[in-house]
Amino acid sequence: MQQHLIDSSEAALASVALDPLGLGTGTFEVRDPATERVIATPPDHSVETALIALARADEAGKAWARTTARHRSDVLHRAYGLLVEQRDRLALVITREMGKPLAEAYGEVQYAADYVRWYAEEALRPSGNYRENPAGGSTILTTRAPIGTTLLITPWNFPMAMATRKIAPAIAVGCGAVVKPAALTPLTTLVVAEIFVQAGVPEDLVQVVTTKNSAGLSSALMADGRVRKVSFTGSTGIGSVLLGQAAEHVIKSSMELGGNAPLIVFDDADLDRAVEGAVVAKLRNGGQSCVAANRILVQDGIADAFVEGFAERMGEAVLGNGLAEGVTLGPVIDDRAVRGFAGLVEDAVARGADLRLGGAAPEGPGHFFEATVLDNVPAGSEIANTEIFGPIAAITRFGTEDEAIERANSTPFGLAGYVFSESIDRAFEVADRLDTGMVGINQGIVSNVAAPFGGVKASGLGREGSGEGLEEYQEIRFYNLARRGRP
Ligand code: NAD
Repeated sequence: MQQHLIDSSEAALASVALDPLGLGTGTFEVRDPATERVIATPPDHSVETALIALARADEAGKAWARTTARHRSDVLHRAYGLLVEQRDRLALVITREMGKPLAEAYGEVQYAADYVRWYAEEALRPSGNYRENPAGGSTILTTRAPIGTTLLITPWNFPMAMATRKIAPAIAVGCGAVVKPAALTPLTTLVVAEIFVQAGVPEDLVQVVTTKNSAGLSSALMADGRVRKVSFTGSTGIGSVLLGQAAEHVIKSSMELGGNAPLIVFDDADLDRAVEGAVVAKLRNGGQSCVAANRILVQDGIADAFVEGFAERMGEAVLGNGLAEGVTLGPVIDDRAVRGFAGLVEDAVARGADLRLGGAAPEGPGHFFEATVLDNVPAGSEIANTEIFGPIAAITRFGTEDEAIERANSTPFGLAGYVFSESIDRAFEVADRLDTGMVGINQGIVSNVAAPFGGVKASGLGREGSGEGLEEYQEIRFYNLARRGRP
């Protein structure tokens, strides 16, 4: 490993202001998943301090809501520039706290910053509309007002992108925010919030609350009355707990929850394209992505060739510390994940799956698991019915189009799906029949700032990114204007 990268990453970690709220009491440990060493001890905020943070964000939000769209847009444009300028620092912090290879961390920084630029632009788009009362005599004008103070809860897998995808639209429309990052990866969010302040975001507007007591803090914040919107990205189980609290207190909710993405390869697919797409959809972020290809369904006629090419490309993954040169597959987030993967592989093989590649967890320190390919995975295996969230590919084969669709949809989840076929008719028809919010056609990536990201069924409610993502932070009002002389 290059010493200068270790030194720079240590400097980046040391630069993180751990307690910008100035309210910290106890602390908790954040560890590097590649070495298991403690890299920071941020404050373990209590319910009381979280409520102080909420009061600050709420107060600052009232003033921010009265600023002009042009001002908010200018601030966000400046924030975009600063995030890109400080990409080295951000990427190093991401790799150290989350583990992904440095090149992927740079990719996340740009992707995350792109949301800030996108919402700097969206802030200026006209909102609201005009319509006539069909019965005559009045005109209806609609406006979109900032919804009020928001609670933004993010997961550990994309610590920067999941934060900016929520913070940027909230700021763009004029809302304050309390942000609660995952306890495993709180540092990147602290840097992002610091950079927003450098760009001109009022100091109190975005409050980052670090804690080990997520459940206690969020339920107190949700019950407080000042939170008007909760946006959560994480597992379906926790999302549904939050939805219960949101229902009780009538809080608008966006839920980006778990996935179980099918990736379907038809006989008429371009083999190279399908292999490349499947590798990206499986190994991006070490498979720790809600849109990762979870069930790879391959039609009988192309299956042998696909499995051979795919296993070969998966075998090229270089496992190691994300800071080391040439590494393309970093550690997974923790030891619990490693144990879970070993159990999933064991169960699938015991039920008759063929292990084509990997399957083992190298010795620590660090939480590592090899890129793994399982072929002919039986439908009853645990791995076929669970969100893997790691570098394991589970392949099954199918005969007909109807069979593929039936299997693809046989899950409570509906986030992303992927279809590979050179027939435009088939690709669109199958995409239409998939019960998912997003479909990648002949490619393994669906995420894009301009696209409405989100799922159906147990994968969530609402959309992030795009113009739709902005509306999640707005409330519609209308004015009924009496019109004299109008029929
Ligand atoms: P998680 O649900 O364990 O945690 C997500 C966040 O919720 C963290 O900040 C955590 O501290 C917090 N949290 C935990 N318990 C809580 C509670 N009782 N009340 C309030 N907050 C609580 O999820 P994770 O392990 O961090 O992330 C992985 C999951 O996130 C996967 O299921 C993945 O599919 C999903 N995810 C979804 C999307 C999407 O856009 N749909 C994107 C990324 C990840």
